[in-house]
Amino acid sequence: MREIRIRFFGDLEDLVLPHLRGRTALASFNGRRSIKDLVESYRIPNTEIAFLRVHGKFVDFSRILEDGDDVSVYPLSFRQEFKQARPLTMAKPEIIAFVCDVHLWKLARYLRFLGFDTAFDKTLDDPELALQSHDEKRILLTRDRKLLMRNLVWRGQLIRSMKSEEQVSEVIQRFEIQSDIRPFTRCALCNQSLVPVQKNDLKYREIEDRIPAGIKSRHDHYSTCPGCAAIYWQGTHFKRLQTTFKNILK
Ligand SMILES: [Zn+2]
Repeated sequence: MREIRIRFFGDLEDLVLPHLRGRTALASFNGRRSIKDLVESYRIPNTEIAFLRVHGKFVDFSRILEDGDDVSVYPLSFRQEFKQARPLTMAKPEIIAFVCDVHLWKLARYLRFLGFDTAFDKTLDDPELALQSHDEKRILLTRDRKLLMRNLVWRGQLIRSMKSEEQVSEVIQRFEIQSDIRPFTRCALCNQSLVPVQKNDLKYREIEDRIPAGIKSRHDHYSTCPGCAAIYWQGTHFKRLQTTFKNILK
């Protein structure tokens, strides 16, 4: 029998059972066990863990636990305290692409509006979402811990807020992607990159019939979606989104 001590810090405390908050817990088990397995037994997806320490020393998820180990588990908000250590799962990927689960359709549309490649298909079940994350190297965004703990998930983030505008901020902050925002470059409906069309372009003639007369007289710049043929212009919807995200877009 091995006995270890474990404590969760920062916003990870919100994810453990109330009697474990703000205190060290004892755990005992038989046989070989990695820190990854131990942490998951507390239903904390390892996507949420940035630093692990045993007796004060930084370790990674593969560390095998020994009798008497004293384990501390931290979220990314501790990066200021731990400047010398590299976060375990948080670093920004080279290509940023997301997949949202079925409940986060509003977040998906907002991320597309900000220009991020964001897959969303409400017909996919959990195994299929995990597979898409794996196959297409997409960061899986969900409020469902069980989904994040599936082995196939490539990268992920447990979304905490219920409000979609706050969810957007959570994602931008976690992956530090504020400078990657390209508003109005992607179709909110189908995720394709938009093609800009000016009033004097040849292409304008192809879409002209589908633009309401009142809009035509006021706008010279449009974009079209090669996927679903939607037409966009900087109307009231555009301005509303600009106001909603003024802190992010500044
Ligand atoms: Zn489209």
